[in-house]
Amino acid sequence: MLVTVHGKRWQMQFGRTPTGWYGFCDTPNQPKKRIILRPSLRKNHQLLLDTTIHEMLHAGGPILDEDFVDTMATDIARALIKIGWRLPSGPNL
Ligand SMILES: [Zn+2]
Repeated sequence: MLVTVHGKRWQMQFGRTPTGWYGFCDTPNQPKKRIILRPSLRKNHQLLLDTTIHEMLHAGGPILDEDFVDTMATDIARALIKIGWRLPSGPNL
């Protein structure tokens, strides 16, 4: 699916990621930008949420520090889960 991040569009999909990575994203000025999520995240909705936020933060803020992105994504995902966010079925990708 196409998603908009900070005014630009990325193709977000499940796909192969480097070993040990849950996801990655292309840089904002790259043509046909993609955000790729590891397929095994379909089974772990909190980690899917965390990783989606993480990669979207990188997409919209490529100068952001990895530790900042990592901490913020986990904090946001935990807060959303805490206020009741749930994926009703499997992801729509
Ligand atoms: Zn990262």
